[in-house]
Amino acid sequence: MEEERKNNFLEEIIEADLAAGKYDSIVTRFPPEPNGYLHLGHAKSLCINFGLAMKYGGRTNLRYDDTNPTKEDVEYVDAIKEDIKWLGFQWAEERYASDYFDQLYEWAEQLIERGLAYVDDQTLEEIRVNRGTVETPGVDSPWRNRSVEENLRIFREMKAGKYPDGAKVLRAKIDMAHPNMMFRDPILYRIKHASHHRTGDKWCIYPMYDYTHGQCDSIEHITHSICTLEFDIHRPLYDWFIETLGIYPSHQYEFARLNLTYTLMSKRKLLELVEKGYVSGWDDPRMPTLCGVRRRGYTPEALKMFCDRIGVSKRDQLMDIGLLEYCVRQDLNERSNRYMVVSGDPIKVTLTNWEPGKVEWFEAPLNPAAPDGPKRRVPFTGELLIDRADFMEDAPKKYFRLRPDGEVRLKYTYIIKCNEVVKDADGKVVELRCTYDPTTHPQSGQWRSVKGTIHWVSTAFAREIECRNYDRLFTLEDMSLVPEDKDYKDFLNPESLVVSKGWAEPALLGDPGEIAVQFERVGYFRKDPDSTPDHLIMNKTTSLKDSFKL
Ligand code: ATP
Ligand code: MG
Repeated sequence: MEEERKNNFLEEIIEADLAAGKYDSIVTRFPPEPNGYLHLGHAKSLCINFGLAMKYGGRTNLRYDDTNPTKEDVEYVDAIKEDIKWLGFQWAEERYASDYFDQLYEWAEQLIERGLAYVDDQTLEEIRVNRGTVETPGVDSPWRNRSVEENLRIFREMKAGKYPDGAKVLRAKIDMAHPNMMFRDPILYRIKHASHHRTGDKWCIYPMYDYTHGQCDSIEHITHSICTLEFDIHRPLYDWFIETLGIYPSHQYEFARLNLTYTLMSKRKLLELVEKGYVSGWDDPRMPTLCGVRRRGYTPEALKMFCDRIGVSKRDQLMDIGLLEYCVRQDLNERSNRYMVVSGDPIKVTLTNWEPGKVEWFEAPLNPAAPDGPKRRVPFTGELLIDRADFMEDAPKKYFRLRPDGEVRLKYTYIIKCNEVVKDADGKVVELRCTYDPTTHPQSGQWRSVKGTIHWVSTAFAREIECRNYDRLFTLEDMSLVPEDKDYKDFLNPESLVVSKGWAEPALLGDPGEIAVQFERVGYFRKDPDSTPDHLIMNKTTSLKDSFKL
């Protein structure tokens, strides 16, 4: 995977800036709003921001964009840190937009004193209507020409709590006919009598995003402030505040946000799925959240490989979730421990020539990528279970698993032959009476090969486990195409979770690994934290087979 890749446009910009001596070193930031859990889109942003800083010897701040107290919570603040650490990134400083509320307020008074801001008494609805449209200019507010003294007095009263929510706002005084709607006297402050998770009840006016973000970047001397494309129309305003206030010139750059097939990444909608119980929580393994995919068994390495593969572009794109699954398989294939697990409705295999009661232990590598590495011990007895799918009575020619009078190797052990098929009253196969060939012991030195090898477990040693099999959360490939007359929840996949039973070899219960394991010939599974000592629950991470074509 370590192919040479061309620089992306951000790397080009940074290399040019460094070559021109514009900065000694670069500083980026990751600016989440603590109003939800991080998702796969944030992973892309994290990989870009931390990745660039690491590549060019710079640093990255974690800055919470916490200007909206009614939607934010410390639960999210803590979860976000946990997810970033899990990805393996370490921020230089942990900052909060709210750390700068005093400074932002001071700058607002400066703007008022310079005649560049005014208190507006219009309702939000009036302000919206009077902004005009792209084709028509806006209409000046009747309060636009208040004196500096009056503006200062009222703004201070707003801060002191004299007015109710929505009674007034502070706006920049720029140009109500500006072709960029962002410049039509943007709102700087709104009144909100709400407790903030960090500043408590100190403030009842809160700054707006546009008035906050650039200045926070500037205070922290962020050199490259990287955000998603929808902010490109905000950039001139970002620059306007920095230039007007004469502060450190941070610059904003935009890249395309990540969209993935069969899922969505709007925090508002993900929150709704959690609150209304469509999923078991933010960390439901079907969720595109980082805690969700972690619980499912995706690894940080796989996510980084994915972000590297999709690159950084300037055009919005819908990425195939199959590519992410491909990366997960690539990583787990190299690193995961192997175990044999037979699915819930197995067929019993009786070895008629096995010495009754005898147990033979075989050694198998935990990971075939390291054949000389750690081993597991697999017990073999005269009564075994195999997958129902590994036997077929009227099998076509190319069927290489077990059939009447046919042979197959039981993985790591002997070749067996099926001599008799036993059925119940309904005609369902319940037992295969077989013989094993003792000369085919893997260490016998006389290797005889058969076309098929299947997995199995010893009935006496098999442990019952619960498997949670996941499928895509939504049935619509492109969730941005939900028709007007439908709701996105109409496309929830009713089969996104199917619970089944499995019979596992005993070593699985003592798996020492931190990552998902492979159920041989089936797929990757990760132990769920709901497991108890006598009830192992395994989340299906992904199947073995790739549906994705590179
Ligand atoms: P949402 O709209 O779901 O609430 P957001 O963009 O408001 O998402 P933030 O917490 O503000 O979420 O995002 C933090 C950073 O992550 C921002 O820089 C944002 O641009 C970036 N980001 C968010 N979603 C994506 C995405 N899908 N792809 C890439 N970057 C993203
Ligand atoms: Mg945001």
